[in-house]
Amino acid sequence: MRLETLAVHAGGEPDTETGAIAPPIHMATTFRHGPAGERVAGFEYVREGNPTQERLETALAALEHGEAALAFGSGMAAMTALLESLAPGTTLLVPTDCYTGLRVLADEFLPRGGISAQRVDTADLTAVDAAFAADAGAIWLETPSNPQLRVADIAAIVDCAHRRGALVFCDNTFATPVLQQPLALGADVVMHSTTKYFGGHSDVMGGALVFTQRGELCERVAHRRHVTGGVLAPFNAWMTLRGLRSLPARMHWHCANARRIAEFLAAHARVSAVNYPGLPTHAGHAVAQRQMRDFGAMLSFRVAGGRDAALAAAGRLKLIHNATSLGGCETLIEHRASVEGTNPVSPQDLLRLSVGLEHTDDLIADLAEALG
Ligand code: PLP
Repeated sequence: MRLETLAVHAGGEPDTETGAIAPPIHMATTFRHGPAGERVAGFEYVREGNPTQERLETALAALEHGEAALAFGSGMAAMTALLESLAPGTTLLVPTDCYTGLRVLADEFLPRGGISAQRVDTADLTAVDAAFAADAGAIWLETPSNPQLRVADIAAIVDCAHRRGALVFCDNTFATPVLQQPLALGADVVMHSTTKYFGGHSDVMGGALVFTQRGELCERVAHRRHVTGGVLAPFNAWMTLRGLRSLPARMHWHCANARRIAEFLAAHARVSAVNYPGLPTHAGHAVAQRQMRDFGAMLSFRVAGGRDAALAAAGRLKLIHNATSLGGCETLIEHRASVEGTNPVSPQDLLRLSVGLEHTDDLIADLAEALG
């Protein structure tokens, strides 16, 4: 079945009791069992699993072409559960440009469990190969990356990692399975912040892991989720499932809008650089073209004149909101360096744009006025 059809139907069997086309939300925290704990209908306690979450996990696994999926309360909960399941002593390769949450997790929390993180430019295959030579056990990819939209060659890195028995994890939040399917390129686990495009309306938090196999790693992470409790609430599972029904249709529109905005910005005199893999001038364009169906709707750009000019332009926008997060219907802009905590790493003149579903004429008019 094609992805568009899977998105509409996976995990969407009509309710067996009522025939309802939209699935019921099972809010129950506990499920009847036999006197010795025998399960009656497969469920026991909500922290371990529930029917609404199971529907979502079925859909996520189908969309990413994995065998099993685990839903979490947030993207960070998903990422943490996976990375903290690595054996103590493991070296994890982490991209130099990546979501701040991963950076903090790698620096502050993972070392406490004996996992050490080593930075590598995942857009540079030679650097990745050299880093693996130092005996890394796993690599984290985020492609395109947040916020500089760097592109990693998933298949080539998988080849490099698997030759050494190392695992490949890929944060597919920016691309979504509509545009990129890391498991089909050989990655072992895909991670999502479903808070973004899956939910799609800036109103529901969640995270997910999708595994190629329901094997030992998946069981270990499921056990950790059950015990440490980073689960998704049933209502959020339902909202996310509702959101993903329209994911392919939204991504199509998001990408078309982003392409036009990127071209507008690239031609603007007050913009010194545009990071968008869809532009032929982007360093990762050829790889992105090979491994993605389209180039996504996230981009970042640098404003000539530095930090003050960037902040002034962001402050003049009227239609585009200054706000964090991404993947919703509305276009959002953010000065990443301002929200990266005590040790910001993003360039001070960089603004990140999550291109929404408005008409591009209106978005371009707003940007043109703000840039001056
Ligand atoms: N990965 C990426 C690429 C993100 O942009 C984010 C959040 O912005 C996360 C992971 C974390 O997801 P969440 O906010 O759902 O915990």
